[in-house]
Amino acid sequence: MFIELTDHLRCPRGHAESYLVLLPERMEGRSVREGRLGCPVCGNTLSLADGVLDLGDGPPDPPASTLLQPDPLTALVGLNGPGGYLVLVGRPADAWRAVAELNLGVGLVAVNPGPQVTDEPGISVLRSGSLPLKSHSMRGVVLGAPYGDDPHWVVEGARVVLPGLRVAGEGGVPDSAALELMASAGGVWVGTPRR
Ligand SMILES: [Zn+2]
Repeated sequence: MFIELTDHLRCPRGHAESYLVLLPERMEGRSVREGRLGCPVCGNTLSLADGVLDLGDGPPDPPASTLLQPDPLTALVGLNGPGGYLVLVGRPADAWRAVAELNLGVGLVAVNPGPQVTDEPGISVLRSGSLPLKSHSMRGVVLGAPYGDDPHWVVEGARVVLPGLRVAGEGGVPDSAALELMASAGGVWVGTPRR
């Protein structure tokens, strides 16, 4: 995990949002390979192993295909310029190298990617049943199938994205109080958090 991403993590428990304190045990360059993350509010401790933060409640892997390939997902989230983080949930993360080339200087976060995606420079990997990320902290969120069809994940995407920026998903058009739809076509949609 890219060490600077740890500033954007939050405790996944249901209390008021809290940061996590990193206790690194093994670093490689700017990547945390082994370590622990502690919550100062509830005392929850999470472990980073092989660079991956696995909260243990991630869903099973969905089918490998996705409509949200690097070119269309890049167009949908519409990041212009470097900086910040783009979150790829599910199978869209499998093509993260191509996404990185199309979004130079943007940090990539893979949440529940396919099993072949491992932690390495350029990608941080999380496995979780929700997004253990601070609210309003990410420049874009991409929800592959079935996440883009799941109200819980739509709300999570809308929560973590910065105001005015976008969540793109694969699935039915979301009917969510959290998200204002901008466009939909061909099984994919894009929206922005409702204010
Ligand atoms: Zn906590």
